[in-house]
Amino acid sequence: MIAATIRTQVELPLRFTDGYTADARVFSFDGLVDGREHLAFALGDCTSPHSADDRRVPLIRPHSECLTGDVFGSQRCDCGPQLREAVERIAEAGGYLLYLRQEGRGIGLYSKLAAYALQDDGIDTYDANVALGHAEDERSYVAASQMLHALGVTRVALLSNNPDKARQLCSYGVTVVEQVPTGVYVSAANQRYLETKARRGRHTLQLPGSAGSAARVSGRTR
Ligand SMILES: [Zn+2]
Repeated sequence: MIAATIRTQVELPLRFTDGYTADARVFSFDGLVDGREHLAFALGDCTSPHSADDRRVPLIRPHSECLTGDVFGSQRCDCGPQLREAVERIAEAGGYLLYLRQEGRGIGLYSKLAAYALQDDGIDTYDANVALGHAEDERSYVAASQMLHALGVTRVALLSNNPDKARQLCSYGVTVVEQVPTGVYVSAANQRYLETKARRGRHTLQLPGSAGSAARVSGRTR
């Protein structure tokens, strides 16, 4: 794997629509393999990129960009609440949110909207991607691994329900010491999407109706 380097780092105070605030330090990079403008947000007590204290294992969340969910609060997915939860949990634990510019499981924004149209005709989210000539999931975590290495992070606690993220990070030299589950945010509009993610993507989600339901109400955090 080619090494990436930190290009710029700058303080970025965050304020979310619900009033939650956090102080972040945002990093850009040189040398990312896919040439995209991915960002790392350092949050909480883990802001030194090369901490001498290697007993610390930062909490890491690789979050793939979702314009409709992250910015506009779309109810068709759970990305907005996932992002909001991740920022708060990482700010408490110390670590990095990796904001990865791979919209729509890597197929791009326009293709994601085309896939939504197919889903409205009854095709599930994975088959819709395939029908459009894409793989079921085209996301890659090579750049995420490069970013972590550039930040001096080789051992992480991974905030994710997605087993593919842990597998890919491990294959690129990042040791996942612990996998920490995220909340599940169910709404009327995204329940079928979440059920499909659990079934087809083998995400570890517990949805209403399943035994020991751990589902949370949409829009609530923690
Ligand atoms: Zn989304």
